[in-house]
Order: sequence, then structure tokens, then C-alpha cells
Amino acid sequence: MRVSKLYAPTLREVPAEAEVVSHQLMLRAGFMRKAAGGIYTYLPLAWRVLKKIERIVREEMDAKGSQELLMPIVQPAEIWQESGRWDVYGAEMFRLQDRHNRCFCLGPTHEEMVTTLIRGDVRSYRQLPLSVYQIQNKYRDERRPRFGLMRGREFIMKDAYSFDRDEAGLDKSYQDMYDAYTNIFTRCGLNFRPVEADSGAIGGSGSHEFMVIADSGEAEIVFCTSCDYAANVEKAELFPLEAQEEAMLTKEEVVTPDCKTIADVCAYLKLPVDHSVKAVAYNSEKGLILCFVRGDHEVNEIKVINTCGVIDLEMATEEQLAAAGTVGGYMGPVGIDNKKVIVVVDATVMKMHNVCCGANKEGYHFINVNPGRDFTPTYVADIRLIQEGDPCPHCGGEVSKARGIEVGQVFKLFTKYSSALKATYLDENGKEQPMVMGCYGVGVSRTMAAAIEQNYDDNGIIWPIEIAPYHVLVVPVNTKDEASAAKAEEIYMQLKKVGLETVIDDRNERPGVKFKDADLIGYPLRVVVGPKTLTEGKLEVKIRKTGEIRYLPLDGDYVQDI
Ligand code: ATP
Ligand code: MG
Ligand code: MG
Ligand code: MG
Repeated sequence: MRVSKLYAPTLREVPAEAEVVSHQLMLRAGFMRKAAGGIYTYLPLAWRVLKKIERIVREEMDAKGSQELLMPIVQPAEIWQESGRWDVYGAEMFRLQDRHNRCFCLGPTHEEMVTTLIRGDVRSYRQLPLSVYQIQNKYRDERRPRFGLMRGREFIMKDAYSFDRDEAGLDKSYQDMYDAYTNIFTRCGLNFRPVEADSGAIGGSGSHEFMVIADSGEAEIVFCTSCDYAANVEKAELFPLEAQEEAMLTKEEVVTPDCKTIADVCAYLKLPVDHSVKAVAYNSEKGLILCFVRGDHEVNEIKVINTCGVIDLEMATEEQLAAAGTVGGYMGPVGIDNKKVIVVVDATVMKMHNVCCGANKEGYHFINVNPGRDFTPTYVADIRLIQEGDPCPHCGGEVSKARGIEVGQVFKLFTKYSSALKATYLDENGKEQPMVMGCYGVGVSRTMAAAIEQNYDDNGIIWPIEIAPYHVLVVPVNTKDEASAAKAEEIYMQLKKVGLETVIDDRNERPGVKFKDADLIGYPLRVVVGPKTLTEGKLEVKIRKTGEIRYLPLDGDYVQDI
């Protein structure tokens, strides 16, 4: 590639709206241009980087036996209505109608699409496990699109979905994806950390986010300085170990079959009946499931978040109550599907009655519960979120905090979508079973931005070599000096020949201008060919990352050395 031909228009001024470094530098260095808020054209340099990230993603996904396919971006409303998420997804979903007034959306994610696909084609346990993935534009009408590619409304995601016979199978699929993600972000040259994550509105329990450590990150994480405990603060454990052990609860203690109204429950738990107790779900088999709704959500909103349905007792029929089994917008699908009981209560109650808090897995009684979010803080005087310097909930060491950019997330979905969308298979005994699913996303375009957030200096981008748009820039200092221009051409050809992705700055510009652009764009290596160094029989090679300059003898094997 010749710079004279390269479509990478560099800018002197940065548009004021670009708040973070990656956004500023990608505009200045001619990597992208804005089309609308959160919607961008990737210019050739950015597209090369994206293709490299995609290649790494593909290789690692393929290595785990996941198969690439491509699903439609335009998705019919029906499948989202079937899963119950058409109304749940809210304003973040781009919706459209065709000429016959049929409703569609632009896919923000593909659980519905993939589950309805697989349910049509997979019938037998012999066809499982199965894992598929795609790399594609996703659409989310974010409330605040900002930070350039970090929070776009159109962005590139790799999304993978696994289908297993049982939870043991899911555990393996999940671990495979976890390992693949570790390889992907390592190969991209990033400083990252997997952290325990909240399963959020998507449901399920068991999730990790992959966080690139950077001050501009929107997420806050805690991590132990002695062991490998790390979590998104939203998910972080609240209590030191002793308190957890004290509060373990057996199922029998949770079951209170006599409670059928909020008032019953409150009486049982010796709680005042007030606004913090919004909903109770009761299941005849599992017993009581109680939900203390966080202060800033009305029951209606929780209903919307939680497709399994939190029951408003005022409105509920006996039948609904019997079928219910889910709590809190952030607790994920629990109860009947997971065959586990969850109870959320406030801290005072927990102490008084030794009741567990937000558990859907043994030993996890304090994970996933936040005062102020999951229940009103009136009762939580002696609870607080984990803070810098606190003892680690796992090893007692010290925890520290950092900011992170979420570049990927792995989720255990269990049977949330396969139950709702009836994706079943026949097991060895000919019995129909729901498939056990996982979903796994990598933000490809966000990863490119995150790489810059972590690798830059005052002069511009410093690409990790694995994802750099090109490896080497050859700069003839003076294109009018025939000898050095010819030598630069020769070197350019030689480097290309050995497979290095090379650019030559053949413009008739001052060296200062060329060097500035080289640093801004962030070529990992810069080879300078000038009359002076030529007469000395040398080449000047500068390493962008360290600033180190080496002189290679022209009569040696400099191609090899580079
Ligand atoms: P966030 O918490 O930042 O809103 P998310 O948890 O909603 O992200 P997921 O549904 O987990 O996102 O999607 C998988 C991956 O897609 C994320 O880990 C992230 O890297 C990427 N991603 C999500 N939203 C965006 C966006 N608006 N712009 C760019 N990348 C995104
Ligand atoms: Mg989001
Ligand atoms: Mg997130
Ligand atoms: Mg996520």
C-alpha cells in the first residue's frame, strides 16, 4: 500500500463530541467517520483491524468446535413474542414494519432466532452437543450512544450459542468458551480480566464478563490482590466469609406453605408491610418465593424485566400463583426451571431468621444481591458494597478496584429459551427434554476501541502487532533524492515479499509530517531511509511501542532482522 493512495484522511482538529481517546484517535487518524449518532463507517485501516480481530475470534471458536453460520439481521416479531421478550426489550430495540404491516426488529441479539432454528432441526440426543456462532452487525438503540465504537447503536458482535443435553454438558461448553475468550483477548494483546458477572435481564445464572482494564471503562470491578477472585461490582459479594457461613439455609427453612399473601409473608418474617415488599410468588412444590423489589422499580417494571413473571398478588389468580417461581429483575429465571428456590430478603431479616439472600446455588447465598438495588436500603444499615481495602470474600486477602471495558461475556442460559420456545430433544429413553443452552458474545468493534484505550500516547495509537492494520511503514525521508527513494522502494518490495504487511509513504511531504502521521496511525515499525543513513550503509528502524531506534546494516540480512 502507498500512502499516496491510502484512504486514511487524518485530521488536525478533533470534534468536540469525542470524549474518549479511542474515539478521538480513530477520527484523527482516519479510521472512521460518523454517519449518525452511534453509527459509523469503518475506513480501510479500521476494517483491516476488525478483520484481524475477527480472524482471531474465528480461529479460537473453530478450535472449540463451534460452527460459523449467518443468521438474518431482520427478525420477525413472532419469535420474540413467543419468548416473551418483544415487550421486555423496550426502547433499545430497533423496530420496523414491512409493507404488509408485519412487525420486525433489527437483531440486538439472536437467542430467539437461533433457538427457533435449532428446534426445527435437532430432534435427538445424538445431535447434541451443538455450538454455532456468527459475526455480524448488531443493533441496539442505546439510550446514550457515546464513546465512538465503545457504545454504538450499530456494532459488530460475535455471538455464539451452545446446545447441550444437560447441565454437565453446559458446564463443558461454558468452560470451552471461557477458554476461547481468554485466548482471543490474549492474542489481541490486551490486558484483561474475566470477572464474575450479574446475569442481568437475559436471565440464567452463571456468567463472566471479560473486562479490558482501562480508566475510561464504564464498568467497575473488584479483584483480590492475593487470589483470583474478581467480580463486577454489581455482582460482588457483600460479606466476609463468616457472615456467609452463618447464614446458610436449607430448603425446608424457606418453605412456608401457609403464606399466600404479602401480608402473610411479612407476618411470618416479622416485617412491616411497606413499599419494599412488592411481590410474592408461591409455588406448591417449591414453597414460597419472595421478592423484595428494589426501590426504583415498580412491580410493572419488574414484570417487564422478568419474562417468567413476578406476580402482583392483588391481580394474581391461584393458578398463576401455583405456576410462579421467579424473583427480582436481576435474579434470573429460578424456581421451577432451575429446580431451585430463591429468597430475597433484607439484611435485618436475614440476621433474625437466618434466611439466605439471593441464592440459586449452594454456597452462593450472598452473590448477586445488592442493597439499594435488590431491596430497599432502609434495613441495610450494616450492609455495604465491597470496597477498596476490604477483605476478599474468598481468601481474606485485600480487594482492590479498577475500571473495565466489557469486551465479552459468557452466559449460562440453562433452559430459559428452550423452555419458552419449546426447543426439545428426545433423550436415550425417548423422553422429551429441553435443551440446555449457553450464549457467548464478543464485542468485535468495541474490542478495537478498547485496544486503543489501553495502548496510546500523546502522539497517537500504539497497535498491538497482532491486530495492527499494517506491520511496517517505510518512509523515504526525501522522495526527490533518487537513491534513497529507490532504496525505499526496494525495501518496501522485499518486506512485502516475505509477508510483512507494509506501507510506503511515497508522498512528497516533509519528513516531520510523515513521522507525525506514522505515530498517529500507530504502525508498530517504522523504517526510515534517508541519504545520510544510506551513505553510512544503515537503515533506521523505530519501534512504536518503546520508541527504541535501531540501526540495521544494509549489507546484513535486514529483512530478517525487521
Ligand atoms: P453493556 O453492559 O456495555 O451495555 P451488554 O452487557 O449489554 O454491554 P452483551 O449483551 O453482553 O452486552 O453483548 C455482548 C458484547 O457486545 C458485550 O460484551 C460488548 O463487548 C458488546 N456490546 C454490547 N453493546 C455494545 C454497544 N452498544 N456498542 C459496542 N459493543 C457493544
Ligand atoms: Mg447493554
Ligand atoms: Mg453489560
Ligand atoms: Mg454483557
